[in-house]
Amino acid sequence: MSESRSVPSVASQRELQRAVRSRLLPWFEAHRRDLPWRRQRTPYRVWISESMLVQTRVDQVIGYYKRFMKRFPSIRALAEAPAGDVLKQWEGLGYYARARNLHKAAQYIVNELNGRFPRDYDSIKALPGIGPYMAAAIASLAFNQDHAVLDGNVIRVLSRLTAFEDDTSTGPARRDLQALAQYLLVEGQAGTYNEAMMELGALVCTPRQPKCDICPLRLRCAAYAQGDVTAYPRRRPKRKVPHKEVGAAVVVNRKGQVLIAQRLDNAMLGGLWEFPGGTQEPDETMPECVARELKEELGIKIQVGDRLMIVKHAYSHFTIALHVYMARILSGRPRPIHCADYRWCTIDELDRYAFSRADLHVVDRLRSQAIKA
Ligand code: SF4
Repeated sequence: MSESRSVPSVASQRELQRAVRSRLLPWFEAHRRDLPWRRQRTPYRVWISESMLVQTRVDQVIGYYKRFMKRFPSIRALAEAPAGDVLKQWEGLGYYARARNLHKAAQYIVNELNGRFPRDYDSIKALPGIGPYMAAAIASLAFNQDHAVLDGNVIRVLSRLTAFEDDTSTGPARRDLQALAQYLLVEGQAGTYNEAMMELGALVCTPRQPKCDICPLRLRCAAYAQGDVTAYPRRRPKRKVPHKEVGAAVVVNRKGQVLIAQRLDNAMLGGLWEFPGGTQEPDETMPECVARELKEELGIKIQVGDRLMIVKHAYSHFTIALHVYMARILSGRPRPIHCADYRWCTIDELDRYAFSRADLHVVDRLRSQAIKA
């Protein structure tokens, strides 16, 4: 552990270690939630569930997880599926690079490792899209190897237990907390220990209004002793999140079909489908932006009609307001110039394609209008 005024003394770390063994693990055995991925632990099931759980609430993940496992019950089934099917199952979960990496890693395991999931931490971490957290989660939860996980829940619990003063978003602070999590780990019970820490963060030591009165570690909690639990974890003030104004078109042809485009693989939301468009430039009206974007992306000149809707959406690093216009082609035939592909499809056929959450609002609006009509 690096020199830091935040790191608790060896004596208090030992006390905390004893409390984790004698109080936290029994608490977890009594209160653990019965979640689908906790039944029948396999590396594949841990991998899929943990990939879905990053930045997403458990209650939202349950449905996704069950559908995904039904569609892709094994690594081989995932590896052999078309990429579009994998994205379709992930649709709405966000962080789509994760779905693409799952698919790539499954193909690697099937083609290069005879379908056997690697067992040791370094080999797991070498798979596409797997970082230290995921490798530790799989190694501990599926193979019970002594690797501590450090996710948002664990960071919050540890920084409160120790009244950790450093900004927890920095690398050195993360290393200190990772070392502390590893020190507290109950050897031979890594899976249970990791889940217990995460469960405590999810159910008791919550970001706002933690339930300290029922916390099994209350008597060893420095933040509780100070009477200021929500002051931790310490973080530097958030920077203002950038905002983009984005225009998109629902281009309709004579058959009543709408035009959708597939995003380039290397772009954000790569591989997903969208109503074509892009970011508004300075000194440009929104209809001008939409017309320019469709010319650049698909080589067509369009007439921009009425505005259908505005969708506001927050991504992890910026927010958008998506201005969606109805449109028709004035000249040209679509060509995938700055997109991977395009399709004309009926409103019903939109269900076959994977869209980002913002575009799904547009799909819903078109569907409800079609039903009314
Ligand atoms: S006592 Fe409160 S702040 Fe401390 S670990 Fe428990 S729930 Fe979190």
